[in-house]
Amino acid sequence: MFLPVVEPWFALEALDPTILKITEPHTDPLIRANLFLVRGRERDLLIDGGNGIVPLRPFLSSRLTKPVVALCTHAHVDHVGAIHEFEERLVHPLEAEALAHPAGDESLFFEDFPLAFRQMLQRIGYRDVPPLMITALPDLAYDPGSYRLVPTPATRLVDDGDVVETGDRHFEVLHLPGHSPGQIGLFEPRTGILFGGDAIYDGTLLADGPGMSLGAYVRTLERLLALDVTVVHGGHGASFDRLRLHDLCRDHLARWRA
Ligand SMILES: [Zn+2]
Ligand SMILES: [Zn+2]
Repeated sequence: MFLPVVEPWFALEALDPTILKITEPHTDPLIRANLFLVRGRERDLLIDGGNGIVPLRPFLSSRLTKPVVALCTHAHVDHVGAIHEFEERLVHPLEAEALAHPAGDESLFFEDFPLAFRQMLQRIGYRDVPPLMITALPDLAYDPGSYRLVPTPATRLVDDGDVVETGDRHFEVLHLPGHSPGQIGLFEPRTGILFGGDAIYDGTLLADGPGMSLGAYVRTLERLLALDVTVVHGGHGASFDRLRLHDLCRDHLARWRA
């Protein structure tokens, strides 16, 4: 199969003067997760690390002028790839093991994904997924078969109620299990900004695959409905407002309860 070579691998978009969104446009949407860089007064906060197909830090280097705190919303392959490139690495205790010791069977070929995960996609009527998860190569010599995650020990464990701060901004850690046992979000009470990870994004939420819990997810969406949110920056797709958040939560709750 012919794949074009693209450079740079990442795309960058400024959501506002202080929040950059980074994506990997040449990955299949199933694994095309969002990364966010929040510029703080004393340190920058990186939320999630993408797939780790190519290093992130060289791409960001000219934009990094402060120490970086890298937070992983959960340890799924599409969110952890670049976390190891940073000195400070935050994750929930229930995801720390998977982050530190990846299974070693990570793959860009869909047929290698866990059977239970592929069966879940089929069950919920997810669109057909192509055999290969990338639509371009980061360089001519890149071998998709060589893809693996780098073991990433956390330097700080964070749980519900903890605060992650950048000097001028304070984000509250919300434990939002369901999609993953140690899934967390970051909420800034002053602005109502929520970084939702895979607990909430504008798309089909994945709730009953391996390691997932529908019961916990129901409680997570109920909690999000009661939160004073203005904007959600989710783990996948475009950002959205509170009205859309409520639609997404109610739609999924109705479907799951049926
Ligand atoms: Zn994801
Ligand atoms: Zn996930």
